[in-house]
Amino acid sequence: MEKIPFNKPYLTGKEAHYIYQAVYSGKISGNGQYTQICQKFFEEKYGFKKTLLTTSCTDALEMSAILVGIEPGDEVIVPSFTFVSTALAFYRQGATIIFADSRKDNPNIDADRLEELITPATKAIVPIHYAGIACDMDKIMELARRYNLFVVEDAAQGIESFYKGKPLGTIGHFSTFSFHETKNVNAGEGGLLGINDERFIERAEVIWEKGTNRAEFFRGEINKYGWVDIGSSFLPSDIIAAYLYAQLENLLEIQRKRVEIWNRYYMGLKNLENKGLVTLPWLPPEATNNGHMFYMVCRTGDERDKLIAHLKNLGINAVFHYLSLHKSAFYADKHDGRTLENSDRYTDCLLRLPMYYELSLDQCQYIINSIHDFQFDK
Ligand SMILES: *Cc1c(COP(=O)(O)O)cnc(C)c1O
Repeated sequence: MEKIPFNKPYLTGKEAHYIYQAVYSGKISGNGQYTQICQKFFEEKYGFKKTLLTTSCTDALEMSAILVGIEPGDEVIVPSFTFVSTALAFYRQGATIIFADSRKDNPNIDADRLEELITPATKAIVPIHYAGIACDMDKIMELARRYNLFVVEDAAQGIESFYKGKPLGTIGHFSTFSFHETKNVNAGEGGLLGINDERFIERAEVIWEKGTNRAEFFRGEINKYGWVDIGSSFLPSDIIAAYLYAQLENLLEIQRKRVEIWNRYYMGLKNLENKGLVTLPWLPPEATNNGHMFYMVCRTGDERDKLIAHLKNLGINAVFHYLSLHKSAFYADKHDGRTLENSDRYTDCLLRLPMYYELSLDQCQYIINSIHDFQFDK
């Protein structure tokens, strides 16, 4: 069998066509025709009050950090088992990051143990929906209301997934999506800010456009634009939006295929879980699966590393995932010293299997068989 990579970006075939159109439309800067179509797609399909396309999820997180008004001394609660950007975007605005542990039964933030982390300095909670599986949003939103906090959903992996029927990203005050090449829907690099609290729409547009009221000017609402606030150049070129639009048109087909692969893995590996050799993903009853990722948790870090090496020998690229941020080179000496045992366990013991649109069910079966051939420790 030829080598199976961990990821392969999906192409619908229409990307180059839409890019061509964007290029020859004569306007390829930001907030152009394709940007508007992509934003409308999200607003109409999922019911966001407003969305803004960004050059990455990291940018969308940075915009939310500005919008919630982070100032030095504010505390922001972030899971330790996440990508760097979730914490970095808030740290950069001056926040102290208070790292929360993951749940025992899945890598999402443990909402039952959040209240003890809240202090008078807490400003926001930033849960991530790991593998596109929803966090306990009712509990998180209830705490936010009670303590007057903002919730920014890092929904980088959460497209087309739901919590109690609500699309991920539409529950918190803000949400952020990623269209990085490793995500279900990609644009190479790209992101989206979702705004669910109308009070912030106008300011978000200004921050998006380098602190100017240019978006209003383009709509003809004012007759000149200028510097009115802080901000940056957070908006992507319309070429990126054109590529993204080709992907969005095929969203449901992408999802169908990924969930099919995910289910095949799950069925094929279930008996290893029954034997207590690995733990498979656990979905709460109120959460859906968008097939973003198939992960398993081994019993020890050593066994996980051996399984990755075993698969590598067979041409299969399985990979580990996040390294606890509270132990990172950058943050270890700033962390308050609490141990976060679940985050550390996922750091050491979790592995992800190849998952991409073009992965065939035969390849999937080969990966399953290869895992069954592995000599698990006695
Ligand atoms: C991918 C990802 C990011 C970063 O997305 P970019 O678009 O690369 O900035 C942030 N958070 C999570 C949870 C992610 O999975």
